[in-house]
Amino acid sequence: MQVLCKPSDKSPDVSCPVCNKGFLLYWERSSKIQQLATLPEIRQALREHHEAPGFISHPDADFNIPSWSGLPQFSAAALLGGAML
Ligand SMILES: [Zn+2]
Repeated sequence: MQVLCKPSDKSPDVSCPVCNKGFLLYWERSSKIQQLATLPEIRQALREHHEAPGFISHPDADFNIPSWSGLPQFSAAALLGGAML
């Protein structure tokens, strides 16, 4: 399932396990059970950001997990999750 991550300092839904940066999450599906099941995948993706060569920081702009080749605002997660973009 696809998730749109928006960097946020205020009451984030998930924090990076490495640097503790917070992100708000917009889900493709609204099922709480599926969302909880996807959280480890999101933390793993955030950890992988740090392992990328030349890592400086997480993207300042919205991004999707798993990564999406289109514009973030047109992803299913953004549209169905109701992200205000
Ligand atoms: Zn981090």
